[in-house]
Amino acid sequence: MREEYQPIFGYSIDGDRYLNITNRCTLQCEHCPKFSGDWGFANHNLRLLREPTVSELVDAVGNPSVWNEVVFSGFGEPTLRLYDVLEVSRRVHERGGRVRLETDGLANLFFGRDITPDLEGNVDTLVVGLKAHNSEAYERLCRPKMGHAYEAVLDFTERARNFVPKVVVTAMSGVPDVDLEACRDIARRLDVGFVSRAIRHNC
Ligand code: SF4
Repeated sequence: MREEYQPIFGYSIDGDRYLNITNRCTLQCEHCPKFSGDWGFANHNLRLLREPTVSELVDAVGNPSVWNEVVFSGFGEPTLRLYDVLEVSRRVHERGGRVRLETDGLANLFFGRDITPDLEGNVDTLVVGLKAHNSEAYERLCRPKMGHAYEAVLDFTERARNFVPKVVVTAMSGVPDVDLEACRDIARRLDVGFVSRAIRHNC
């Protein structure tokens, strides 16, 4: 019998509510499990046969005030749907919730303008995937679809500090090519937080 497709638009981990907004990416990371057909994370299949609407995302949140944070994350880059992210975030805040945006930091490059002022009042925590300690390692591991991507991530992070109360960059642990201490130094220079993450973590 054919298995019925059950879309997962929202799921919970440790008091956070995660929204699965898109499977599209501006990176093509060599370690990404989705390229080998593995869409599993936290016991959910995050493959989307269609992207959820704003209403479906708001429904997937439920009452935002019961969550630590509502998190835009998953096997895709949320800012590719920036205006929908902002609309859902506005509604989350209206009802007393907090928002965390997990991003590859390439939105300014993608949109061709500085979008960081749009985050003000909409995003409480911004997690940017620095991924690696220099552009050579980043290009090799993440295979960005646009040029000068690593420099764009650094610039985005620096600008976002002016508009988002808490900014953190992440780098991949367990990858020989990635110098975590150098990544930590970059975070220090940018005056933002730092977290290393296992590559199996969804991004
Ligand atoms: S690891 Fe994340 S950013 Fe990289 S291709 Fe996969 S989903 Fe996209």
